[in-house]
Amino acid sequence: MYPKLEINLAKLESNTREMVRMCSEKGIGVAGVIKGCGGIPECAMVMEKGGCRFIASSRIDQLRKVSESGIKSPLMLIRIPMISEASAAVKYSEYSLHSELETIKHFQKEASKQNRTHNIILMVELGDLREGIWDRKELLSTAKFVENDCKNLKLAGVGTNLGCYGSIEPTSKKLHELVEAAEEVESAIGRKLEIISGGASTSVQRILDDDMPNRINNLRIGEAIIVDKDLEDLYGYNLPQLFRDCFIFQAEIVEIKDKPSHPIGSIGYDAFRNKPVYEDRGIRKRAIVAAGKVDFAYMDQIVPRIKGISILGGASDHTILDIEDSDLELKVGDIVEFDINYGALPLLCQSPDVMREFVSEI
Ligand SMILES: *Cc1c(COP(=O)(O)O)cnc(C)c1O
Repeated sequence: MYPKLEINLAKLESNTREMVRMCSEKGIGVAGVIKGCGGIPECAMVMEKGGCRFIASSRIDQLRKVSESGIKSPLMLIRIPMISEASAAVKYSEYSLHSELETIKHFQKEASKQNRTHNIILMVELGDLREGIWDRKELLSTAKFVENDCKNLKLAGVGTNLGCYGSIEPTSKKLHELVEAAEEVESAIGRKLEIISGGASTSVQRILDDDMPNRINNLRIGEAIIVDKDLEDLYGYNLPQLFRDCFIFQAEIVEIKDKPSHPIGSIGYDAFRNKPVYEDRGIRKRAIVAAGKVDFAYMDQIVPRIKGISILGGASDHTILDIEDSDLELKVGDIVEFDINYGALPLLCQSPDVMREFVSEI
């Protein structure tokens, strides 16, 4: 049955090992972030096997499923938690990232109720303008509150998030600022912190350039393990040791016809309220595969693996391909394979209509 995701667990484990090795050479432990692959427990398992110190997700339900599937590593909740999920977060994760005192109070209450200890990482805003405490006084008072007034919480460390909303690069300078903030917290509480978490996959650049500040000892890495595209495509690094095809999307051709490349008639709006512009390239051979925006949302986030094929567009349940110059002869019923960018992968992993096939050899 199609559409289908082919998930190569051997390649995923190999990528994890390689990333863990690169990081550990610089004294950095890896939190393997599974949200990008929809929290699929089999993927979390190989990330654990590959040496991740933590398994992390923004979604508590993914951590619940992973913990129920037998993961032993500590679990980390990396989206600033909702107060309403405090109970589940304390139950299904050992570490969580925070920026709000009020939420921390709820975590203390829940941890006390469940008779557990929960570890808090305070997020420091360094300018990307997503989550994190901007005001240093607030950072120190929040740290002291966790340290002194929360019996069931442990202040594990500080972290930051860069390269998301504000596209701010995790330069060595920015990460030095994080270390500075960590050291201010350490002098306020009178002890060393266990974790200084220097960001996500984009921060792997500091390892590759060998200018990671010494005291950064944790990264939360999803993309660079799971799809490994951005470091090469966007930042120009060469990482031939990492597989870029751990996940492949397969969809079946339901129609092949020669048709004009420009729509015929008066052009109004497409299915998504846009008024697109169409290039007239004359009559071209086109194929429709049975999968669409409902499965992966963004037509530019999947890429056909057969040379000479391009995506013309699509709608909720259809993807239209130009196969005029295809390297392979295609017919109705054939399967077309696609590489998947990070933006589409969590959707494909969570679509109930997309089958999964696990492969365990490289
Ligand atoms: C998603 C996320 C990560 C992992 O990002 P990647 O780009 O997949 O490495 C790390 N930290 C936080 C807070 C996140 O939301």
